[in-house]
Amino acid sequence: MRAARLYEPGQLLRIEDVPVPKTPPDGVRVRIAGSGVCHSDLHIIRGHMAMPLSLPLTLGHENAGYVEEVGAGVTGFEPGDAVAVFGGWGCGTCSFCRGGEEQLCDVMKWVGIGRDGGYAEFLLVPNQRHLVKLEGLDPVDAAPLTDAGLTPYRAVKKVAPHLPPGSWAVTIGVGGLGQFGLQFLKVLTAAQVVAVDIDDDKLALAAELGADATLNARQDVGAEVKRITGGEGAQAVLDFVGNDATLQAALAAAGRGCRIVVVGLGGGTFPYSFMGVPSELKVTNSVWGSRRDLEEVLALGRQGKVKATVERHSLEEINEVFDRLERGEVSGRAVVVP
Ligand SMILES: [Zn+2]
Ligand SMILES: [Zn+2]
Repeated sequence: MRAARLYEPGQLLRIEDVPVPKTPPDGVRVRIAGSGVCHSDLHIIRGHMAMPLSLPLTLGHENAGYVEEVGAGVTGFEPGDAVAVFGGWGCGTCSFCRGGEEQLCDVMKWVGIGRDGGYAEFLLVPNQRHLVKLEGLDPVDAAPLTDAGLTPYRAVKKVAPHLPPGSWAVTIGVGGLGQFGLQFLKVLTAAQVVAVDIDDDKLALAAELGADATLNARQDVGAEVKRITGGEGAQAVLDFVGNDATLQAALAAAGRGCRIVVVGLGGGTFPYSFMGVPSELKVTNSVWGSRRDLEEVLALGRQGKVKATVERHSLEEINEVFDRLERGEVSGRAVVVP
C-alpha cells in the first residue's frame, strides 16, 4: 500500500510502498477515506517538537474510513462499516484508561505518533474499542472531527460551566482547531466570543461561524478585549497557538477568575505570580479528548451543529500541503484522501 512516512525530522515525508499490515485477532484494518493534516504533525516533521519517535513512521492521527477486515475476536463491526478512529491509544489497563481517559495514558501509543497512522491506504487499529461508527456522517468530513474537532471540544467543556449569559470568551487562533473552538463555544454556552487571528481571511470566516467580535492579533489584544468587554476582560481564553506572544495576549485579555486553556503546542511560557495575574486566574492545558468526548463531537457533526471546512488532497500532495499549512494558507482543514 502507499504510505507517507517520516524518516527523519527536518526531511520531507517519503511516499512509498509498504506492506499492508496484518490484522491481529483483536484488531481491525480500516481503509482510510480521509486523514486530516494537523499542525502538530508539522511540528514533528520540522523537528520543532522533541518526541520519542520510532522511525520510519507513518504520521496521521485524524482518521476515518471503512472497516476492511476484522480479527477473529472482534464483534460488532463488519467490513464496510464507516468508522471514525479514536486516536489516543493507551495501554487499556491503567486507571486513566479504565476511567475512559485513555488519551491521558502515559504509554501514548497514539495513532500516527506512537504507532503508524493514517497517511496511508490502510490503518491497523489494534482494538475495536478505538472505533466509533459514523452512522451517516461522511468519513472525509468526520476525519477532522477526531482531533481538530475533539481537542477544542474538550477545551470548551472545561470552560463552559463558567460562561453564563453575558460573559465573554476569547479564541486565539482561528485555524483548523480554533474554528471548531468557536463553534463549540456557540453550541455549548451563551458566551459572546471574540476571535483573534493574524489573518483577516480567517477572521472573516470566524465572523461567518458566529464570532461576536474579531480582532487582528497585530492590534493590542489585551486593550481591545478590555474595551469590548466593558473593561472587565474575558471569563475564558482558549489559546490554540500557545506561543509566548499568544500566551501574553491571553493573559492581557483575561478578567478576574478567568480560565485560560492552552491548546496549541507553540511551547510558550508566561510568568505566573500572585500580583502579576488577574485575581483567581486559572490556567490549564487540554489534551486531545476521550472516546466519550469523540462520540459527543460526532453527534454534533451528525446534527449539523458543527462543520469542518474541508479541502481534499491526494497522498502525493502531502508535502506541499504541509508547506501551505506552515505558511498559514490552509483556511479550513486539509484532508488527505488516499
Ligand atoms: Zn492533531
Ligand atoms: Zn493506560
